[in-house]
Amino acid sequence: MGLARIRGQNRALRAVGLAMEQNRFHHAYRFEGPEGVGKELTALSIAKVLNCREGRTLVLEAGDGQDAVTLPDFCGECISCRKIESGNHPDVQTLTTVKKKAAISIKQVRELHGYIMYPPSEGKAKVIIVRNADRVTEEAANAFLKLLEEPPARTHFFLVTARPHRLLPTITSRSVPVRFSPLDPADMMTILGGLLPDEPPEQIESIAAMSGGSMEAALAHVSEEWSQALEQVVALDRAFAGGVHGVVQLLDEIPIGRQEVGRLLSLLEMWYRDVAYLGVTGDRQGLMLKALEDDVARRSETLSPGMASTMTLRIPEHRALLENYVNPRMVIERLYMQLKSEDV
Ligand SMILES: [Zn+2]
Repeated sequence: MGLARIRGQNRALRAVGLAMEQNRFHHAYRFEGPEGVGKELTALSIAKVLNCREGRTLVLEAGDGQDAVTLPDFCGECISCRKIESGNHPDVQTLTTVKKKAAISIKQVRELHGYIMYPPSEGKAKVIIVRNADRVTEEAANAFLKLLEEPPARTHFFLVTARPHRLLPTITSRSVPVRFSPLDPADMMTILGGLLPDEPPEQIESIAAMSGGSMEAALAHVSEEWSQALEQVVALDRAFAGGVHGVVQLLDEIPIGRQEVGRLLSLLEMWYRDVAYLGVTGDRQGLMLKALEDDVARRSETLSPGMASTMTLRIPEHRALLENYVNPRMVIERLYMQLKSEDV
């Protein structure tokens, strides 16, 4: 299965595929969009298309007001496709940060200079995929710029980023942007259903709903921690309703890393949305956190829909604080104090 396994990104595929088809394929593309929607998968797939020994075509059906098109595709079975899939193709390289939060270093970029000086060794094109392209040191970015300015023939770069605004303007101006959209819930459910055949459908639905269209976020929810996280969201709401001591105590008991608190806030937002929704409609079918149905029902008896909605409005700005590296514990405490000050 070739490019067809990339779901929900027909616009992006169309843009890149047509450029290939019409011989106007650029040497540097910038794949922008939320985490976990298929940017890297697409870059790797295009590397396969460029190097596939068999060659296939894919017909993209008409949609979004655009006509059907035929795009070059890869076979997935030839030696080249298989080597790329397993990360062993000498002409396809992925540049990434060494540690999770680190930046790409000047040393890594210098090594890349050496690497692309030579023509492709067994494939037709050299492909360099830069993950987290926004995370480079300034000197590395400048060295990288030289590569983008005068790339050798048959060399292609894919800069993958969820934060394009953090790229240097000089890099932005030398790469062609391709937007990747959040996945829509139907696509998410199809993919998740395939990945998690044992998961009950209502669980899949909840996970898809809370992932913001990102597979990465969705898969982060699928773990043993999932049911714990659900318990924590109920406990946090109870603590918020109780008072500051309960909040402090709870924060001492649960994991409060950035990732955990991020997930907790996403869940909390859905929790209050569900409480408000159930309070207004009485419709249990429409709940997002189906696993917490009974808890939501109990809570909606004591928390008015108006107050629950107010809670949902305050959460996104706190999640943004978290992304800006504010201490996760402080984010929760700040949220609590803000809710209190609004007398929720
Ligand atoms: Zn192939």
